[in-house]
Amino acid sequence: MRRRRVARLSVYEPRLRWRVAGNLPRKVAGQRIVRVGRRAKYLLLGLESGTLLLHLPAATPRRAHDHFDLVLDSGVALRFNDPRRFGSLLYTSGDPQRHPLLAHLAPEPFSRAFDADYLYRISRRRRVAVKHLLMNSRLVVGVGNIYASEALFRARLRPSRPARSLSRADAARLVRAVRAVLRQAIRSGGTTLRDYLGTDGAPGYFRQRLYVYERRGKPCRRCGSPVRAMTQGQRSTYYCASCQR
Ligand SMILES: [Zn+2]
Repeated sequence: MRRRRVARLSVYEPRLRWRVAGNLPRKVAGQRIVRVGRRAKYLLLGLESGTLLLHLPAATPRRAHDHFDLVLDSGVALRFNDPRRFGSLLYTSGDPQRHPLLAHLAPEPFSRAFDADYLYRISRRRRVAVKHLLMNSRLVVGVGNIYASEALFRARLRPSRPARSLSRADAARLVRAVRAVLRQAIRSGGTTLRDYLGTDGAPGYFRQRLYVYERRGKPCRRCGSPVRAMTQGQRSTYYCASCQR
């Protein structure tokens, strides 16, 4: 996609989460894509004059509701399909990281800002369960239910543990575990963006290697005890009672 030129942007339905600007097709046509990046759930397409911010919906059935096509001069098209219109297509001529939608986002799991010190600090006064802390996108972005469950298993932490009970060493282990789980998901499932969306839609190959997620009653891959399940904030949580404390 990088180095290609936008041949055409065809907007079929501008009424997305935020209205697609009427002059956008004219503005981006003919421009070269100079950078491709991502911030949280936003795909950033850096053009010569600015940046397109695309918020892709988590599920993309390839049927009706194709709201726009971004067609490149190679013939490749980026087709936007979003029945619920939760996605968006915006543009900025300035630094995309300072866009109002991105400027105040929590750190990315792979960024330097998300380290043991950070996790330890934000957990100090929080009574919430450590799993909720991990899944709070105002504290760290992109850690969905599967990834939180799996990371807590790897870090040997019970998902219901109050966040503030974590030691500094627990926090360090958990940061490493979150990154390891996400890295594995990215490696096993194609594009980084889709896998990263923090939904339960993990790639199939990744699912086969899960330690606890959706493995209720099956033997823990580490110790053999049956994996347990519980509900936390309307989401299913899976854990091993003997490996995770
Ligand atoms: Zn176990």
